[in-house]
Amino acid sequence: MALLLEGRGLAASIRARVASEAAALGGRPPGLAVILVGDDPASESYVAGKRKACEKAGFVSSVSRFFDSVGPEVLLAEIARLNADPSIDGILCQLPLPGHIPLDAVARAVLPSKDVDGFHPQNVGSLWRGERGIVPCTPAGIMRLLDANGIDPSGRRAVVVGRSGIVGKPVAALLLAANATVTIAHSKTRDLASVCREAYILVTAAGIPGLIGADFVAPGAVVIDVGITRTAGGLAGDVDFESVEPLCSAITPVPGGVGPLTIALLLENTLACRKLAAG
Ligand code: NAD
Repeated sequence: MALLLEGRGLAASIRARVASEAAALGGRPPGLAVILVGDDPASESYVAGKRKACEKAGFVSSVSRFFDSVGPEVLLAEIARLNADPSIDGILCQLPLPGHIPLDAVARAVLPSKDVDGFHPQNVGSLWRGERGIVPCTPAGIMRLLDANGIDPSGRRAVVVGRSGIVGKPVAALLLAANATVTIAHSKTRDLASVCREAYILVTAAGIPGLIGADFVAPGAVVIDVGITRTAGGLAGDVDFESVEPLCSAITPVPGGVGPLTIALLLENTLACRKLAAG
């Protein structure tokens, strides 16, 4: 039976440590500002989860809400206001944004020192150059989960399915920095199954329930399922868990695998920005 890589316990311990470090800092608490556009129920629930986690950790948080029809200039003005607000350490724009909002302009508008999602080109560059910077929360959480379970990517083949700026590319950069030999697969990849079968560590972030079946997984592989899709039957990952689990040495459940770590690492990034602000 595969080792179940559960994220909840690890996330709780990270959150507890962050809360006690934040309390020990003295002065004002760390502050996180979330920008939420539209009324997508999934985004609403993610934002509610982030606010609750902030509250539990003794952070202050705010949500700036906008209608779907908001113009880019209004969002950019709000980001500029939050950049200048000394009580705010971290700024996060909940994705997805409506199509008429240029994601790149939003990513560039957030001060790199408040960019808790690690989207600013300066932080992206730091990640690929192996320099200090803010690392996107979900990829950072994946690396913690591997580390906490004694899974060392060094010298191993890793395959990442998905090339988004929020998961696929940054997790590939982190696996590379951890000395894995990394392949990034995506929607145009030919014969995805055979590419995935090369992986000792298979990270999948496509958002397609059941995409990864037993024929995609080599015996003994470690499977990290980042996908979260709301289906009639509840939350579903990319992996067909029933058929894949018996093949693996370790696998994340969905929910309860990578998800809880994303919020824990968001708090950690916000605390790091608070420390930066304190010099
Ligand atoms: P995205 O839509 O930006 O990217 C999806 C990627 O999957 C793309 O790069 C695309 O090329 C690739 N893809 C699509 N169809 C494919 C196919 N048939 N074969 C191979 N590759 C394919 O999504 P995202 O923002 O990176 O999120 C991916 C998934 O991860 C979603 O389900 C999202 O909800 C989930 N997610 C989870 C967390 C978490 O905390 N666990 C955090 C972020 C995203």
